[in-house]
Amino acid sequence: MEADAIIIGAGACGLMCAVQAGYLGKRVILLEKSDKPGAKILISGGGRCNYTNLFASDEQFISNNKHFLKSAFTQWTVEDTISFFETYGIQGKEKTLGQLFPDGKNAKDIVGVFTELCHDFGQQIICDAAVTDIEQTADGFSVSFDKGSKSRTLKAPKLVIATGGLPIPKMGATDFALRFARKHGLNIIETAPALVPLTITGKDEDWYAALSGNSVFCEVSNDQISFEENILFTHWGLSGPAILQISSYWRRGESINIDLLPRQSVVDLIEEERKHNGKLLLSTLLNRYYPKKFTDALGKFLPLEKQVAALTKVELETIQQTIHFFKVKPAGDKGYDKAEVMRGGIDTKELSSKTLECKSIPGLYFGGECVDVTGWLGGYNFQWAWANGYVIAQNI
Ligand SMILES: Cc1cc2nc3c(=O)[nH]c(=O)nc-3n(C[C@H](O)[C@H](O)[C@H](O)COP(=O)(O)OP(=O)(O)OC[C@H]3O[C@@H](n4cnc5c(N)ncnc54)[C@H](O)[C@@H]3O)c2cc1C
Repeated sequence: MEADAIIIGAGACGLMCAVQAGYLGKRVILLEKSDKPGAKILISGGGRCNYTNLFASDEQFISNNKHFLKSAFTQWTVEDTISFFETYGIQGKEKTLGQLFPDGKNAKDIVGVFTELCHDFGQQIICDAAVTDIEQTADGFSVSFDKGSKSRTLKAPKLVIATGGLPIPKMGATDFALRFARKHGLNIIETAPALVPLTITGKDEDWYAALSGNSVFCEVSNDQISFEENILFTHWGLSGPAILQISSYWRRGESINIDLLPRQSVVDLIEEERKHNGKLLLSTLLNRYYPKKFTDALGKFLPLEKQVAALTKVELETIQQTIHFFKVKPAGDKGYDKAEVMRGGIDTKELSSKTLECKSIPGLYFGGECVDVTGWLGGYNFQWAWANGYVIAQNI
């Protein structure tokens, strides 16, 4: 036996697991397919790493079993994440909506905390090591991997699969966890890109493309949930935080509703202007709330050059519908190339919520994005990965 455990994947979950195991005096070996550990951490939050969220609770996660994450989140809290990084010189700074980023530091520093601690604890990280096969043995697991042109094997009594999800294949994302799970008869909740831009094709395509680069504060909703944040028009459709959030709840063929003026009533605003300033053009009124280019584009639906006093009842109804109930039927999404996370994954029914051990394969643990727990945009997914790393380390 080369170590107490082998961890496949030196990403957020695997690295935290290795470090927490180090505190407990356990020796692990991390096998990482990429040429460096924490590749996704490095690109996260635009290189700044939104490493947790002050408001994280079970409310901001999608899973077939909403209760599954409670145990992990009790064992490792947001406060634990904050104080862990503070211990190693990284103070958190809230950007917006509870999103915590390193103050004056970046994603490189976050990864640096883990690599230095792994070094101090003697936890070995083997990079350029793509795991190809796992065999169960009488006393644990035998893990085969390719390193350069050579194939090698390591053995350990415990095994952690923390190989992440399918997004960004060009960075080395693999379906390793899903393939292994399928091979061993574990159930998988259907996977799909999440936190992903949505595409618009057909007759409306040009209207959206012409607005590319414009951003509008909106409330985006479907029959399950709503998000109040910016949407961003792009050459191929819609992006921006509100769209990424709703994409995790969107299913092909469904429409989403966009309220282009949340928390206000456009008709009330018009009525107010009518009292003192009836000659005001509708376009001038809307320009107070939108970039001019967006107001101009609304001219496709609205009588922008009419004075507010002259608007008819029917026109007011059209304005109300267009501004507060703007319906969009996306053609699709931008796929795993542009998704931030994967929805679905290994069915939580297969795992113990307390330890993340696989019920049917003792000694094997799954953690992080490969499990059917998907967080909102805003630091939630790292909180899940750190919590999983901690929990698994207590049990290997
Ligand atoms: C562009 C982008 C920005 C993001 N920004 C944020 C953010 O700011 N905040 C946030 O909370 N979340 C963010 N996320 C999501 C976050 O990165 C993931 O949820 C998180 O990294 C998942 O951790 P993990 O350990 O499960 O997987 P990962 O961090 O993806 O690690 C899995 C590792 O396993 C390795 N691996 C895969 N297969 C094998 C194999 N066969 N053998 C060996 N190694 C293998 C991979 O190379 C990878 O390094 C972002 C994601 C993307 C794509």
